[in-house]
Amino acid sequence: MNIKKRLTISSKILSSENKHILRESEVKSFNSSLSYRYKQCAKRQAMKIWKSWRRNKKKGQIPEFDGALILDHRFIKVEKAKNSSFDYWVRIAILKKGYPILIPIKSYDYANNYFDNWKLVNGGRLSREDDNWFLLLTFEKETPPKKKEGKIIGIDIGIKKLMATSEKEFYGKDIERLMDKIQKKQQGSKAFKRAIKERDYYVNKTAKALSLNNLKAIVMENIKNIKRNTKKERRLRKEFRSKFQKWTYPLLFSRINQLCEINGVHFFTIDPAWTSQTCNKCGFVHELNRCGEIFLCRNCGYTQDADYNASKNILKTYLAQQSMVAGNIKANNGIFVH
Ligand SMILES: [Zn+2]
Repeated sequence: MNIKKRLTISSKILSSENKHILRESEVKSFNSSLSYRYKQCAKRQAMKIWKSWRRNKKKGQIPEFDGALILDHRFIKVEKAKNSSFDYWVRIAILKKGYPILIPIKSYDYANNYFDNWKLVNGGRLSREDDNWFLLLTFEKETPPKKKEGKIIGIDIGIKKLMATSEKEFYGKDIERLMDKIQKKQQGSKAFKRAIKERDYYVNKTAKALSLNNLKAIVMENIKNIKRNTKKERRLRKEFRSKFQKWTYPLLFSRINQLCEINGVHFFTIDPAWTSQTCNKCGFVHELNRCGEIFLCRNCGYTQDADYNASKNILKTYLAQQSMVAGNIKANNGIFVH
């Protein structure tokens, strides 16, 4: 039998297995005290777990159910409480029909913003951790169109200050202290996890502090393209890994991306290329141009805060690429006319 045939056969077996798992009558008659609706929901969740496991190239052991229930709108509803000292009722349908569990909840500032300005998607993820139950709710919002007016700024991420912008604004000067705090704790301990949480909270807060009002676009270095062995990557690795900072950059990156999305600001990325070693004034690139927080050009003597210099380079790289694209379009048009 050639390989092709064997592949077809095994894929047939797989797909028939698929059908086997999927058959509704089987789900219905499955021996369990769950209601049919709950069985359907369980099946859907199991299929999702299985499918994502199959897609995962590094799949190891067969996936295990983590105990969290993903329930749709038929099971979990959140309603505004009227004439009550509570803000909302969470209604969870259980096995006995017509006897839902009703949980009164009080909202708080952070959640209010979502309840008031976003659309709640009914349903949720119900999980249990150390005798406490958690309900994870999802909110959605239509994103506004992207702004046509406003400034474009570059942002550099660093360790002394989380963000430096090309407008010479600096954000998140406490990040190094929080990193040191994590490093002093024993990895995996409760204090360690608390310190990680504190850092994540701080990163979120710092991202939010960035004023997006007058901005049309933000440019950052693309984290996915930080190639191995480039100077930037080595620098990031040296600084970040040693201080459990590994996740700070992706977290801040996705947070800013999200904030841009919500506020109609473009989010552009450039490939990282010598941004911290290039002189923003004369373009001279040298490893020794940067010395810690200070940038001092070996060619023209220009000196500036190193992160600010890098953020200006990020913006400059983006603008240069744009004008190149515009130039190409012009050239193409020229050919077209002739
Ligand atoms: Zn220079």
